Amino acid sequence: MALHQDEAILLAVTDLQEADRIVEFLTRREGKRRGVARGAKRRFSRFAGELQPLAKARIGWFEKEGRDLVRISSVELLRAPKGLTGDLEAILLGSCLAEQMATFAQEGEPAETLFRLLDSTVEALERRIDRALAARYFEAWLLRLAGLFPAPAECPRCGRPLREGAALEASGENLLCAGCAGPGALPVSAGALSFLERISRENLARLSERPPAPATLAEVGEIAGRIRRHFLGHELKSYVVASQTLARLSGQPERREGR
Ligand SMILES: [Zn+2]
Repeated sequence: MALHQDEAILLAVTDLQEADRIVEFLTRREGKRRGVARGAKRRFSRFAGELQPLAKARIGWFEKEGRDLVRISSVELLRAPKGLTGDLEAILLGSCLAEQMATFAQEGEPAETLFRLLDSTVEALERRIDRALAARYFEAWLLRLAGLFPAPAECPRCGRPLREGAALEASGENLLCAGCAGPGALPVSAGALSFLERISRENLARLSERPPAPATLAEVGEIAGRIRRHFLGHELKSYVVASQTLARLSGQPERREGR
């Protein structure tokens, strides 16, 4: 059995039997892992209190060839996700970030870029950056890194620049110019295109100095949602729960997630 150690961000923590927990975590150098933290549910466990989604920690674990689950031997907390635990909206956002990353990161594949995306997003939220801005930035980048969302430069059909206006195909697969988009396409405004282009060269701190309008961010959320649902064939559970919960709180009828 080999001992591994790396910086990681926890993605999910679930109970296993009476005393143990299963922890899914994204490491900086070794990609996503799932492991057992023995005795983690006991009151005086050495893991006490440190196993929460989106916590950043230095994790030590043992791997055995041919086994899916690793054995977690140590967890040293580096950053508690305080900015994502204080209120209901923050908790819902945190579960969306964690589930998305758990869905798109692959086990055993190096994931330095994914790690940096999640790390910088959580850190920006700790510094109280606008939540909608952080959420849309994260969604768009994650889809781009997964190869599902090309940078909006030109129409892949006719080569025309997309700057003047574009539309997302009904299938969610391509961003086309208005002329090439067929029926059912979702129009994409110049503001949304500009945001999608800015995320290539501006980090969250820079974006927040000149933030896009709330309506633009809402539009980016629609676009990313359509691409994500088309690829997965369904919506992520955390998004369904968040939209139902927020609709109930505001007394609005629940928004229907169209494919
Ligand atoms: Zn075109």
